[in-house]
Amino acid sequence: MAGEPQADCLFCKIATGDIPATVVRETETTIAFRDVSPKAPTHVLVIPKAHYPDAASLAAAEPGIAADVLREAGQVAADEKVDGQGYRIVFNTGAGAGQTVFHAHAHVLGGRGLEWPPG
Ligand code: 5GP
Ligand code: ZN
Repeated sequence: MAGEPQADCLFCKIATGDIPATVVRETETTIAFRDVSPKAPTHVLVIPKAHYPDAASLAAAEPGIAADVLREAGQVAADEKVDGQGYRIVFNTGAGAGQTVFHAHAHVLGGRGLEWPPG
């Protein structure tokens, strides 16, 4: 069923605590934790606890939870004090765009200059 935990999904296991992560924020519907391989001084992932393969499918099925993810991404930026200088929220979608974990997640990147356009 849509949104149900997937046995083979790394981020479902982080959401349930079966795999440890450095959690920085948690709500009823979301969890935010530090990326294990940070690409910027601030690199936090915000995920819905429910399993959807990417941001667009999450938004189509659960627009309220998609909004929760976005709001939490903004809160992470504020907590990390990167909101003043500017930060980036990234949803890699599809293997060709660099998505490697197929459970929707926002990357919150900040704390250094960010080039545009990204590679
Ligand atoms: P994607 O490439 O799918 O957009 O992003 C997946 C992200 O998950 C990558 O930035 C990668 O470093 C991160 N990641 C992969 N495995 C783990 C893990 O076990 N723990 C944490 N905290 N991050 C992970
Ligand atoms: Zn999942």
